[in-house]
Amino acid sequence: MRTRGVGKTTCARILAKTINCENLQPDGEACDQCNSCRTFNDGASFNIHELDAASNNSVDDIRTLVDQVRFAPQAGKYKIYIIDEVHMLSSSAFNAFLKTLEEPPSYAIFILATTEKHKILPTILSRCQIFDFRRITIQDTVDHLQTIVTKEHLSAEPDALHLIAQKTDGCMRDSSVRSTRSSASPAGNSLIKIPSSTSISSTTTTSSGSWKAC
Ligand SMILES: [Zn+2]
Repeated sequence: MRTRGVGKTTCARILAKTINCENLQPDGEACDQCNSCRTFNDGASFNIHELDAASNNSVDDIRTLVDQVRFAPQAGKYKIYIIDEVHMLSSSAFNAFLKTLEEPPSYAIFILATTEKHKILPTILSRCQIFDFRRITIQDTVDHLQTIVTKEHLSAEPDALHLIAQKTDGCMRDSSVRSTRSSASPAGNSLIKIPSSTSISSTTTTSSGSWKAC
């Protein structure tokens, strides 16, 4: 997995929810109705754990996680551990984690997300299914922003959405945030438009300062 803001962690959460769904739909989607789905939606699932390795990267953090892994789920089939920014783990933390990753209990699934795959030990990579996330195209970003604009009953100049998509360089999270900021004008104007001092260019930036790149 790679590139920030393209949906790695969101996909990891959806996968975790789907894996534990008790009533999978014919198209493979989670049902959103069963006990597991409802507790997940409420943020109260005991089977899905998230660790942000950017701020919890010590040996003690990993030992705490490994201790949790020893206990089988009380309900549901799997305990799922999402470890975000896994490349941030210290080398001693990685070593403490290695045995569990190599021989996990049958009920444990680990989803590792990173923007820096090359920093992960080959012994760990060789035990993973790897899904590389690509940057989102400008047109897909524009289409998604337009969907948000419509749902939020805002209006936007097409060129403004294009500029936001261009400047955020495939990073959907930043695109959404910038759209929201652009629509929150002091005058209560809900039109997203291009600042007068800004022009669209594929190679140059003539921004007014509020359009910095990711
Ligand atoms: Zn379900």
